[in-house]
Amino acid sequence: MLDQLNSIEKEALASLENIVDQAALDAWRVTHLGKKSPLMTILGDLGKLSKEERPAIGKRGNEVKRALEAALEAKIETLHRAEMERSLKENALDVTLPGRPRPRGRLHPSTQTLREFYAIWAEMGFQVFRSRDVESDEYNFELLNIPQHHPARDMWDTFYTTTPGVLLRTHTSPGQIHAMRAYCPNPIRVILPGMCYRYEQITASKDIQFQQVEGLAVGKHVRMTDMLETMSEFARRIFGAEYTVRFRASHFPFTEPSMEMDVECVNCGGKGCSVCKHTGWLEIAGAGMVHPVVLKNGGYDPRVYSGFAFGMGPQRVTMLKHGITDIRYFWQNDLRFLEQF
Ligand SMILES: [Zn+2]
Repeated sequence: MLDQLNSIEKEALASLENIVDQAALDAWRVTHLGKKSPLMTILGDLGKLSKEERPAIGKRGNEVKRALEAALEAKIETLHRAEMERSLKENALDVTLPGRPRPRGRLHPSTQTLREFYAIWAEMGFQVFRSRDVESDEYNFELLNIPQHHPARDMWDTFYTTTPGVLLRTHTSPGQIHAMRAYCPNPIRVILPGMCYRYEQITASKDIQFQQVEGLAVGKHVRMTDMLETMSEFARRIFGAEYTVRFRASHFPFTEPSMEMDVECVNCGGKGCSVCKHTGWLEIAGAGMVHPVVLKNGGYDPRVYSGFAFGMGPQRVTMLKHGITDIRYFWQNDLRFLEQF
């Protein structure tokens, strides 16, 4: 019987060696230490043994039992540690890893140009004056000397709201009236940047929304020569001093006289190319002396005050500077386009 106990111990410890999971360990416990296991059967039947056999078998039996229990405890500990290590490895958090780079955004090409505009005009004493995108017919047209049925309105068809007389502004010019009424009778030097809207066929050169930067200077003794030099200085700063500018007579209802400013083609240097339609010149801005009616509508007496105004498209400047051929790219939010700037 002692041999039997020895072999029970040997076999149990050997099979415990190979166990790697909890289910197998539970089964082992039942097989070797359960009520119906050979060891427990021997210990349970000690009373049936003779007085001579009983002490030795009892002693050895209990030794085996303790040995198996100790081995079981050790195995539980081993399995637990192995499980912990596996979990640590699987859900590893390596604090020495460098962080993932965060993709950096950048300013929209139009915003970059606008900021360049702001900086140049600020150096010449013009501050930014914000005015709203939704305007009344009165501010967008009437007060700018464009009454109902004026043929110029055909050029400025826009989007109307369901409220009669309320529309999306077609130009930043209504801001001139807002600025004059805000500052009158003080002198003014402001630029009015913002989005404008027109009901247009969308093409490579025209979109239904576009940015404009308007400028306005009002004061006593503001002359046309002031305008010519101010505009030329702006063109020199934005394109470079090597490009010549020219002014051509034009017509706008809210300025008199009116003119357009051209700059020598930055693409061909004036020789003629597809960008300048083979004229050698690029239209950059419309400008003129503020019409007396507009001055009056802004609160200034045209006999005492005078002023000049201009308007230009920052998107067009961006297109010229970067060789962008289609204005529709600006508001499509296509990263392939935007990431180039
Ligand atoms: Zn050209």
